[in-house]
Amino acid sequence: MSAPKPHLTPEIKYTKIFINNEWHDSVSGKTFPTLNPTTGEKICDVAEGDKADVDKAVVAAREAFDLGSPWRTMDASERGVLLNRLADLIERDREYIASLETLDNGKPFMVAYFADLPLSVKCLRYYAGWADKTHGKTIPIDGNYFCYTRHEPVGVCGQIIPWNFPLLMQCWKLGPALATGNTVVMKPAEQTPITALYVASLIVEAGFPPGVVNIIPGYGPTAGAAISEHMDVDKVAFTGSTEVGQIILQAAGKSNLKKVTLELGGKSPNIVMEDADMEDAVEKSHFALFFNQGQCCCAGSRTFVHESVYDEFVKRSVERAKKRSVGNPFEAGTEQGPQVDEEQMNKILDLIESGKHQGAKLLIGGDRLGDRGYFINPTIFSDVQDDMRIAKEEIFGPVMQIMKFKDINEVIKRANTTAYGLAAAVHTTDINKAIMIANGVRAGTVWVNCYDVFGAQAPFGGYKMSGSGRELGEYGLEAYTEVKTVTIQIPQKNA
Ligand code: NAD
Ligand code: MG
Repeated sequence: MSAPKPHLTPEIKYTKIFINNEWHDSVSGKTFPTLNPTTGEKICDVAEGDKADVDKAVVAAREAFDLGSPWRTMDASERGVLLNRLADLIERDREYIASLETLDNGKPFMVAYFADLPLSVKCLRYYAGWADKTHGKTIPIDGNYFCYTRHEPVGVCGQIIPWNFPLLMQCWKLGPALATGNTVVMKPAEQTPITALYVASLIVEAGFPPGVVNIIPGYGPTAGAAISEHMDVDKVAFTGSTEVGQIILQAAGKSNLKKVTLELGGKSPNIVMEDADMEDAVEKSHFALFFNQGQCCCAGSRTFVHESVYDEFVKRSVERAKKRSVGNPFEAGTEQGPQVDEEQMNKILDLIESGKHQGAKLLIGGDRLGDRGYFINPTIFSDVQDDMRIAKEEIFGPVMQIMKFKDINEVIKRANTTAYGLAAAVHTTDINKAIMIANGVRAGTVWVNCYDVFGAQAPFGGYKMSGSGRELGEYGLEAYTEVKTVTIQIPQKNA
């Protein structure tokens, strides 16, 4: 296989609002710029959706959902065919789409190409398979009745997605919603609207009926809020900050009690036991934190290391971080690109300052790289205490916190002393310790001797303030189906 070739200046073909399989200017006529985080320069202007555009999209999605519509009368297996076709089209255009993703988000092209793209395609194919395989039960209730359940689509689903994995989050959301027969009004993040709009064009090409998917680029407090407050949206799925998750849940409560699933922030413990394979634990812990410029909801951002191996782990982690190549994300050897925008960069730099002031030991990095684009040098703090801001708040950047612990019960307790509960990991060669930690931490995902291992087949989601509901896997279908119970009296007369 020849090496993939990035398009260094990919043509931007779609910048408008996508409703009913057509492109629209915003009702207000407004646009907003999307920037290239590598340079800080504008890529293009995109139509700025707001409440009026969301209203139009909801009407289209509702019509597409009406009984008797092409979408509602389509065979379930045919929905699977369409999802598979969409996956094929994304795969066909993978060099171009990975290039758009790198341009708009700043992630290394090689990562977009070899991780985000195949995971997105596989997610769509996985849910394509479910389209005609999710079904109800027949139930032996008391009396002379035939009782069965139907798994029906929820209806018009609002989907609000973040900027850290623009394409992947789009596919995580579309896959289960469309497999189960819902219609969608989606808002991509304002920082990264471009790939979502290109995928919209592929939705038309794949043959989805008009109105099944509608995509409204725009800002959170305007377009996003219009979705979560809408009286005719049946469900909203959100991935992003815990703060906005709380706003969305309240908006649902104050409007029509739409169903809500949330995938929010984290401060996930990554625990290194005294018996861990040290080389492996250092590399995996580095990956756990620094992958995707540190912009992962499940980043292993509290690194707990057993006191007997603490000094060695710290030394080796600093050596590894020194080797991390930071720079132009289109270049093949680059491991780390820029942060997504100036606001995120400044938030991270502010948290780094707090770490210095609160007495953590800065071992490497701690500052911005250059003055063009939003790059931050890989940063490591040791001697971090649990009550420091850097140990409690989600940094969402390339900043590693290393803490020391003495015994396993202590570390489980400290790992759980957080409002979050998204993920956790343990590095150990002792199966008993692995199980103790896997059972003891309150988190939706636990990795043992690995990190960030995702499959469309396995559910993902948070305990506590990291969210509610699960995405991916069979569990991910639940959020997109209503269960209907049908009970039919059986005639008593003998035949
Ligand atoms: P955010 O939560 O504001 O944005 C995520 C999405 O929500 C975007 O599409 C945004 O437009 C939308 N949104 C914002 N306000 C909204 C509102 N009032 N109603 C409806 N939708 C709204 O995240 P951010 O401001 O881009 O980043 C802030 C922090 O959030 C980051 O530093 C990071 O800690 C966290 N974050 C987490 C994830 C994740 O994967 N869980 C992703 C992005 C950001
Ligand atoms: Mg925001």
